[in-house]
Amino acid sequence: MDADAIVIGAGLAGLVATSELARAGRRVLLLEQEPESNLGGQAFWAFGGLFMVGTPEQRRMGIKDSPELAWQDWQGSAFFDRDPDDPAGEDYWASRWARAYVDFAAGEKRSWLHGLGVRWFPLVGWAERGGYLADGHGNSVPRFHVTWGSGPALVAPFEQRAREAAAGGRVGLRFRHRVDALTVTAGTVDGVRGAILEPSQAARGTRSSRAVTGEFELHAPVVIVTSGGIGGNLDLVRENWPERLGPAPERMIIGVPEHVDGRMLAIAGRAGGRLVNSDRMWHYTEGVQNWDPIWAGHGIRILPGPSSLWFDARGQRLPAPHFPGFDSLGTLGAILATGFGYSWFVTTQKIVEKEFALSGSEQNPDLTGKDIKLTLSRARPGAPAPVEAFKRHGADFVVAKTLAELVAGMNKLTPEPLIELADLERQIVARDREMDNPFTKDLQVMAIRNARRSRGERIARTAAPHKILDPKAGPLIAVRLNILTRKTLGGLQTDLSGRVLGQSQAHEPVPGLFAAGEVAGFGGGGMHGYRSLEGSFLGGCLFSGREAGRAAARATAGLAAGRQAVRRTGAGAARRWRRRPPSSPSPCPVPGPQAAPPR
Ligand SMILES: Cc1cc2nc3c(=O)[nH]c(=O)nc-3n(C[C@H](O)[C@H](O)[C@H](O)COP(=O)(O)OP(=O)(O)OC[C@H]3O[C@@H](n4cnc5c(N)ncnc54)[C@H](O)[C@@H]3O)c2cc1C
Repeated sequence: MDADAIVIGAGLAGLVATSELARAGRRVLLLEQEPESNLGGQAFWAFGGLFMVGTPEQRRMGIKDSPELAWQDWQGSAFFDRDPDDPAGEDYWASRWARAYVDFAAGEKRSWLHGLGVRWFPLVGWAERGGYLADGHGNSVPRFHVTWGSGPALVAPFEQRAREAAAGGRVGLRFRHRVDALTVTAGTVDGVRGAILEPSQAARGTRSSRAVTGEFELHAPVVIVTSGGIGGNLDLVRENWPERLGPAPERMIIGVPEHVDGRMLAIAGRAGGRLVNSDRMWHYTEGVQNWDPIWAGHGIRILPGPSSLWFDARGQRLPAPHFPGFDSLGTLGAILATGFGYSWFVTTQKIVEKEFALSGSEQNPDLTGKDIKLTLSRARPGAPAPVEAFKRHGADFVVAKTLAELVAGMNKLTPEPLIELADLERQIVARDREMDNPFTKDLQVMAIRNARRSRGERIARTAAPHKILDPKAGPLIAVRLNILTRKTLGGLQTDLSGRVLGQSQAHEPVPGLFAAGEVAGFGGGGMHGYRSLEGSFLGGCLFSGREAGRAAARATAGLAAGRQAVRRTGAGAARRWRRRPPSSPSPCPVPGPQAAPPR
């Protein structure tokens, strides 16, 4: 044996699992196909929004939240309909993970992270507002807690723990190690086999070479797969595209780095792991092409407030409740039903200034850099600099003084001129007439007024209601919105310990195999069901990585105990785990009893 546990993938879930194992005294090999520059995976790029319930930040904003309300919302969004009460059902473990996750988000999530030095921006965001009935999809209240320091600040404590453990000899960080197979002996996963990729100076997020310089095979009683989803692999996205949404759009832009390649799903499947809910994915409908791309096809998501008008490719307003930030999946369905893979925001400078945020740590230098002065400048007139840069350089943006100019610009961006000025004007004028009273029949206008009753929305996220065609609110801005790939909601089915279940009829756990993070559908093979309430992906990595790491530590408790016994006799004194070339003899043969089964 080369270690007590092998973790595949050094994203957030892998780092959390590794640090939990190391804290329990286990020796871990953390394998990563990318160079060291990429440590932290997608989480480094993340905006850092976290779904949390009943927090001091919410209370300070006058938001009353509770675990019951959060669970009601989660169930309405997830809509678990694949035999959630049958142990063989695809939603059996998914729904149990969901329950455990909501409890975590309403319980120790905040205090645990706070104890690790993580802090949050005081204004809580309101993502996925739903727009249906109380027990339908959506967050009843704002719950999107933006991490101070964005995604990198969530990676930092776990990276630090992993590096400290590496310095102490308990963790071996092996970059450019791409796992191509899991080794299975008598039905038990007991290691990995793969290729050593040539050293690479590739900057974070950019393509790294796939040239192979060697091979490796490593063994451990526990293997944890934390390899992320499929969002960077358009072939896999198309292959698994849900039939209920019709054909996949011909053109999509890509919201994750290329390493989110989904290869490990099939590899774990070949080792006996059960894949479930593969047709559930979470892509965004407000994607814009990055004018300064890091990876190929790089798209950025606009995190929109509720006021922009949303039109389909032919210039017809999307029906209720497909308003910005209400129902990502429903809106995706509505857009694709038009036969086009894109849609339009028509909006004003005044709305853009207050309501356009861009997802991604690099698009929020103020939050990511923990720069209080720069962050406070968001309250000043004018859009944040990254949004202005998109307005100026972005291929999907049209800025104009008059609606006629705007429509001419929109029609230039598409192969055919599909927007008719008179028709678009009629719809906008109709909506603008609804602004004359404090009450209205237009559901989007109602939603804007409703949002303004929430303190945080009024201060930072929802523009004061105004007429789109009011020149004082201008210039007018149109944004062509592309479908942006991002998250994988299904994956390897795991029980509450993160053990991967098998393909046999009884779906017993595959001995030795664990999974966490996006590859495991963030727990259970799909704890989100069909839809997310947002901020639950990073949190899902934290929770499932922690649970899998702890369960794997329990499963290998006997090995550590055995090692201690050897140390007491002096025989193990010189056997500290250390990095070694693959062909050298094992530095630390594992004595002691067999692993106890994980609970
Ligand atoms: C721009 C952006 C913004 C986001 N914002 C938010 C947000 O605000 N809130 C939120 O909750 N979520 C957000 N997310 C989503 C969240 O960041 C991801 O879902 C999460 O970080 C996934 O973590 P992971 O550890 O499961 O996988 P990853 O981060 O994808 O890491 C997996 C690692 O495994 C490695 N790997 C894969 N296969 C192999 C192999 N065969 N051998 C060796 N190594 C392998 C990969 O190279 C990678 O480094 C955002 C994502 C992006 C890209």
